Amino acid sequence: MNFEQFSFDRRIVARIKAIGYTTPTPIQQQAIPMVLEGRDVMGLAQTGTGKTAAFTLPILQRLTKGPLRRVRVLIVAPTRELAEQIHQMSLDLGKNTKVRSVSVYGGVSKVSQVSRLRSGVEIVIACPGRLLDLAHDGAIDLSHVEVLVLDEADRMCDMGFLPDIRRIIKLLPAQRQTLFFAATMPKDIRRLADNILKDPVTVQIGKIAPAKTVSHALYPVPHNLKKNLLLAMLQQTPTGRVLIFTRTKYRARNLARDLAKRGYRAAALQGNMSQNQRQKAINGFRDGKYDILAATDVAARGIDVSEISHVINFDIPDTVDAYTHRIGRTGRAHQSGEAFTFAGQADGQMIRDIEKVLGTRIERRRLPDFNYGSFVPESQFQENHSNSPGKTQPHHKRNHIRKNNGSHGPRRHAPRRK
Ligand code: AMP
Repeated sequence: MNFEQFSFDRRIVARIKAIGYTTPTPIQQQAIPMVLEGRDVMGLAQTGTGKTAAFTLPILQRLTKGPLRRVRVLIVAPTRELAEQIHQMSLDLGKNTKVRSVSVYGGVSKVSQVSRLRSGVEIVIACPGRLLDLAHDGAIDLSHVEVLVLDEADRMCDMGFLPDIRRIIKLLPAQRQTLFFAATMPKDIRRLADNILKDPVTVQIGKIAPAKTVSHALYPVPHNLKKNLLLAMLQQTPTGRVLIFTRTKYRARNLARDLAKRGYRAAALQGNMSQNQRQKAINGFRDGKYDILAATDVAARGIDVSEISHVINFDIPDTVDAYTHRIGRTGRAHQSGEAFTFAGQADGQMIRDIEKVLGTRIERRRLPDFNYGSFVPESQFQENHSNSPGKTQPHHKRNHIRKNNGSHGPRRHAPRRK
């Protein structure tokens, strides 16, 4: 199966080839024909499945015909990072067409966004707050919108954007195509989808659970030993790009700082950073300047970095959905990854909830040669524990991370001086 089957405009086909996509991903195979037909779509898929191109490609195809320089497509996303990622995708795939787009979000000046809107665009990719702000200022005309995309709608609800989304929908023509994407389907999301979609086709990739290419492991550990365990783990485990999640912005910042002090190429990604600093951290992670990113859930939304080998939940997430989203960062686009979760005594209930969604028990592990002191894992953690840090390679073959000693040959992920 290839992209020829969709009969895209030759300028779009040329870009697909140039970018290097050869085979449509499962969600693209299912969603693209439906979107081209003009149907409403409910897409149940997490990041990493190719969902952005699944809606961007047919939207670009629609825009190769009809009037230009008015807003015909509105894509709403929860975070600036995701909005930027979608914007990049539409710039990349639409490069040979005359289609113009703009991304609008808060935290940066309105001036350039307004002037870009004035100059005439067909696609607006927006975060809810700034979009309403611009609509209120009369800086954007949404009366010609033909297609509405709500991306990561479940996350938008988690972040409290549901009232904003309702307000936005009131500003749009009732006659339109709506594409709705979510990785999870809690009740309020289901209700929103039922209200706004007309006779939708449902496109579901796997069950609404974390990507299967990710293997999961739990590391029971008392709170005060977490940092030592992380350091020992980074030394023992062959890793690529590592994304570490913490519960608070403060913990993300401190952890990144501690790791950097120890010679790791680590950066923080958290909400107290400016948009510019956040983008620098993401770009650095993508370009290989950093091997490790310590992030909070909200800040990490929408980072489009493939080849994340490990997600480490330094702190367990607050919800099962957050777990799904976090580990959706690894194992992207058919690659495999590992998700390690540090679990304290208080985390038993959340672990059971996560296991229910995964439909399987998560393997319990103890890191060999790590001094757990007097800590004895609770009975809930004791079953099924393994003495190996991972199943991917025998322990003696592992390319352990060591610090700055240079004695074991060059390794991409060893801590390096900046
Ligand atoms: P997404 O789920 O939209 O975040 O996409 C995940 C990653 O998959 C992005 O880096 C895309 O560039 C990539 N991708 C999307 N479609 C394809 C495809 N058909 N073949 C290979 N990679 C793809």
